[in-house]
Amino acid sequence: MKTYDVIMIGSGHNALIAAAYLTRSGRSVLVLEKNDRPGGFLRTEELTLPGYKHDVYAAAHPLLLTGPAYEI
Ligand SMILES: Cc1cc2nc3c(=O)[nH]c(=O)nc-3n(C[C@H](O)[C@H](O)[C@H](O)COP(=O)(O)OP(=O)(O)OC[C@H]3O[C@@H](n4cnc5c(N)ncnc54)[C@H](O)[C@@H]3O)c2cc1C
Repeated sequence: MKTYDVIMIGSGHNALIAAAYLTRSGRSVLVLEKNDRPGGFLRTEELTLPGYKHDVYAAAHPLLLTGPAYEI
């Protein structure tokens, strides 16, 4: 059975950022998500026409988008 240093329950952006930092520091990380795709309340989908992408839930994350974690 495969083992991991860290197991994250849920794949919202906070978990994904933490997983990225942990992976970069050499830890093995498993992220488990109950939904059909990762991202939590940050999701973009083509809800209307092909090629037109919409924020489904959260609309603005200025501190995330301008912070260093977003570059990971
Ligand atoms: C309608 C709405 C609009 C918002 N707009 C903004 C905004 O404009 N700007 C802003 O800064 N914030 C906004 N927020 C708040 C922001 O979306 C949340 O603070 C942020 O998503 C929290 O991120 P998170 O990574 O902690 O967890 P979440 O994004 O909540 O993700 C948690 C994940 O864990 C999964 N999960 C839960 N339990 C389990 C389990 N037992 N097993 C497996 N998976 C599990 C869930 O399916 C989900 O994918 C909004 C929230 C809502 C609801």
